[in-house]
Amino acid sequence: MAQKRITIAIDGHSSCGKSTMAKALAKRIGYAYIDTGAMYRAVTLYCLDNGMIDGDKVNKQRLRRHMPKIEITFKVDDEGKSNTWLNGRNVEKDIRGMEVSSKVSLIAAIGFVRRAMVEQQQAMGRNKGIVMDGRDIGTVVFPDAEFKVFVTASAQVRAERRFKELQSKGDTTTTFDEVLANVVERDRIDSTRKESPLRQADDALLLDNSNLTIDEQNEWLYNEFLKKVK
Ligand code: C5P
Repeated sequence: MAQKRITIAIDGHSSCGKSTMAKALAKRIGYAYIDTGAMYRAVTLYCLDNGMIDGDKVNKQRLRRHMPKIEITFKVDDEGKSNTWLNGRNVEKDIRGMEVSSKVSLIAAIGFVRRAMVEQQQAMGRNKGIVMDGRDIGTVVFPDAEFKVFVTASAQVRAERRFKELQSKGDTTTTFDEVLANVVERDRIDSTRKESPLRQADDALLLDNSNLTIDEQNEWLYNEFLKKVK
């Protein structure tokens, strides 16, 4: 009998390797993978490009009017990598920089932004066979997901990983302390916001990967997946 196709929700703190493990699992089991953080990042880039953010103030009235004009899609490139597109432009690189990272949690705290993103995410996962990572996938987007994981690691370890990633992408200006402060600040905003705060779903498995290699965490995730579909 063919294995049943399920919905897999991977939530957790900033920069803890959620997307690395979610992507690897999706590839291995032939599921679609959706990075919901990229969607909030793309909305943030749109706001920055259109002068809607001033310090920590967002012009919500303007943003609300612009929401129907913001089209976010994912396209696979020639190397098989998924890229985020915003209104016909490949923004994959732009959304990963510190400018977007330092504002994204402000945008993700806005109720009407979340409702629009959640609606699109639910449509993408309607047919199951999907691995989705984010902050509210197991609690809000797919509360009935068959397999939920909540990932965390110490802030120091997460900042080290993120710092290395930025450096490998050629960012020589951002300091380690800036990265650490950003990780801690995003956790704070994400966990304390009124709209869908970051929290572990009651039925999610907890994974602290502070001391795991990428291969070890991938194996753990795959084995837990097998238990769910047996
Ligand atoms: O996953 P990533 O770190 O790229 O997400 C960027 C930001 O988007 C998070 O810090 C959080 O503020 C927001 N986010 C969210 N809900 C999601 C995914 C991301 O609020 N499902």
